[in-house]
Amino acid sequence: MPDPVAIARDLIQCRSITPVEGGALAYLQTLLSRAGFEVHRAIFAEPGTAPVDNLYARAGASRPNLLFAGHTDVVPPGNEAAWSHPPFAGEVAGDRLYGRGAVDMKGGIACFVAAALDYLAANGGRPKGSISLLITGDEESVALNGTIKLLKWAAERGETFDHCILGEPSNVEVLGDTIKAGRRGSLNGTLIVAGRQGHVAYPERADNPIRGLVTLIAALQAPLDEGSEHFTPSHLEFTSVDVGNTTVNLIPGEARARFNIRYNDRHSQAGLKTLVERRARAAAGDRVHYSFDWQPSNADVFVTKPSSFTGLAVAAIAEITGREPKLSTSGGTSDARFIKDYCPVLEFGLVGQTMHAVDESAPVQDLITLTAIYRRIIEKYFAG
Ligand SMILES: [Zn+2]
Repeated sequence: MPDPVAIARDLIQCRSITPVEGGALAYLQTLLSRAGFEVHRAIFAEPGTAPVDNLYARAGASRPNLLFAGHTDVVPPGNEAAWSHPPFAGEVAGDRLYGRGAVDMKGGIACFVAAALDYLAANGGRPKGSISLLITGDEESVALNGTIKLLKWAAERGETFDHCILGEPSNVEVLGDTIKAGRRGSLNGTLIVAGRQGHVAYPERADNPIRGLVTLIAALQAPLDEGSEHFTPSHLEFTSVDVGNTTVNLIPGEARARFNIRYNDRHSQAGLKTLVERRARAAAGDRVHYSFDWQPSNADVFVTKPSSFTGLAVAAIAEITGREPKLSTSGGTSDARFIKDYCPVLEFGLVGQTMHAVDESAPVQDLITLTAIYRRIIEKYFAG
């Protein structure tokens, strides 16, 4: 079995802070080409964003095509002096591998690469269908020049995917406790209340928009639903309230509040906007003058319905860890929201506890166990 700890260490030593490639994709390209993968690199850019390097690799030419997806870019380390092991050294200390990306998600990539290489070695270099890898360098930032464009690029080449495992850190406490099978949607908006500016000593001559804003904020925080079969309740959270008034004796002419909605499969973006605007209208009556500014969102809600593929992944995890993973849709968004348009996608990787933190680290044993799980998934997938 190729050593997932060594691969993870080598990847951590590449300083691939978004949007920099840092040698991480070049390293994978060499490793995968040697094992018989056909490897492509694709650089994407658009106005106002830095160009980003991506990698697509495939072994085999027939169906089914099992896709492993991930990202080699990492968030910055913050104050490097605060780390007890340098963030780009990939040191093993005690029973853990330390470094930025150990969990999110160079560790996950190392495990599925090791599992795929081992499967190919055991099968004369040929899978019974195909194994593909889709690795982006643009997940942690704007996510515009990564997975979304790489999937489109692959589709235009005639690539089809049957099922995908995204190796994001999905487990909460212990390896094997959670598969993510869907994600909530995310929608951002701004509520703008218009008033009339005036002297604070003569409020009757002005119209204070802060009063109206407070009324609408209170009304919009009411529950949006009671949850659904696969999801917790949707919620709207205000993230900023802004007047920008630096003067003590002035009633401002306008007040704003920004908010984010994390929503489940009871809603569409259009339906949510209608619901929120209807609630605002009811609370405002004809006293409060307001408008909404909705930001475009590419983070729609989705759920991967239980299927034989889910059953296969659950069985593989249970066989290796003795744990029955729960299917969850919690947490923020991920690139699974783009992959779901091409094939069913499950997210399973390491334990997420130290992701994005100082001293991000993964237990060496978890890297070995996760590799065994991916290996078992591949074995079952092509045996079926
Ligand atoms: Zn990640």
